[in-house]
Amino acid sequence: MVRIEPSGTVSVYSQVMERRHNGERIYNFSAGDPLLPNHPLITEAAMSYLQKGESPYPSVAGIPELRQSAANWLNATCKTDYTADQILVTPGGKFALYSLLLAVLEKEDEVLFAAPYWVSYPGIVKLAGGIPKILATHPENGWKLTPDILLHSLSTKSKVLLFNNACNPTGVLYTRQEIQAILDIAKEAGLQVISDEVYSGIVYEGEFVSCGSFAEHRERVFLVQSCSKNFAMAGWRIGFAIADDWKDIELRHVLTQTATGCPTICQWAAYGAVEHFDEVNRYVAQAMQRRRDIFYTQFHKLFSVELEITKSGLYAFVPLALFEATDSVHFCHQALEQAHVALVPGLYFGAEGYVRFAFSDTEENIALGLQSLAKWL
Ligand code: PLP
Repeated sequence: MVRIEPSGTVSVYSQVMERRHNGERIYNFSAGDPLLPNHPLITEAAMSYLQKGESPYPSVAGIPELRQSAANWLNATCKTDYTADQILVTPGGKFALYSLLLAVLEKEDEVLFAAPYWVSYPGIVKLAGGIPKILATHPENGWKLTPDILLHSLSTKSKVLLFNNACNPTGVLYTRQEIQAILDIAKEAGLQVISDEVYSGIVYEGEFVSCGSFAEHRERVFLVQSCSKNFAMAGWRIGFAIADDWKDIELRHVLTQTATGCPTICQWAAYGAVEHFDEVNRYVAQAMQRRRDIFYTQFHKLFSVELEITKSGLYAFVPLALFEATDSVHFCHQALEQAHVALVPGLYFGAEGYVRFAFSDTEENIALGLQSLAKWL
């Protein structure tokens, strides 16, 4: 059996839930969950399905209406050109990633990805039978994966580049030229590219560029998308795996042998959002921008430090040196115990010496949580 460590963020978040259940007030900066009431279009779509009173098995690839609306959404916002049959609905983006890797990897193939990385990448790669190969990036370079770093990390076992744009935890956004250079190397090296783009609609400054928008690279690129962040639907668990051609890829079989598709009511709820992507994503992105601004303003006020403001996503990736600390796990443990503030250690993202704050909780909780942290420090 493959030994898998639990997701670092989910572990911290589970502690938050448990402590809250026991009556403790916890300020949650751990999970990146855009806490908002469901947009009414989501509720209406789910309710009208519910009123039908049916519950047959779902279609494994997803309801056609949702697949078509996802194609429309991506084509309108990411300059892509997908059709509904190129899009599979999955139980969240995480499962899209896992099942794609499972479908693509042979035993002990290397999967390359940049650090700092989303906490789940090493575990998911191992679970799918691959070997994680971590590519260090540097804050002086804006935490970007460069063509040079990629070129120097290739080996005969390299099979997949797992690319994350916009990046969790650093908020890095890649330009068209940067992505072009990376995809060109991937092509040269015969790599398949899984591009995790689940924050594509949570961009405050600059342009989001999708790997799916490079026509000449379409056949080697798989996209991972999700409703969790872009439409604030984390609990509905709907994501998408997108490929130019599923013919030779066994992803559908992975789905038929595991989840048998996603709960139909969740798919209809997602349809309510994705069909009206403009309105629902704006509702989420504007709220997250307000939370981001409050987070950085309060941080500046309380700690007299001006952090570089993130351009995308839901996170601030902060050097621990600001708090005169070095061990991120110890720091986060103490912050939870003593300040009732939940944070995620940089170590879990492959970058010791940092700590991640998610600013996706309510404005009030962000302000009170930072005050509690400042008081403790
Ligand atoms: N990819 C990244 C970079 C993430 O941060 C997350 C969630 O935090 C996911 C994928 C998975 O999202 P979900 O499974 O909720 O769709």
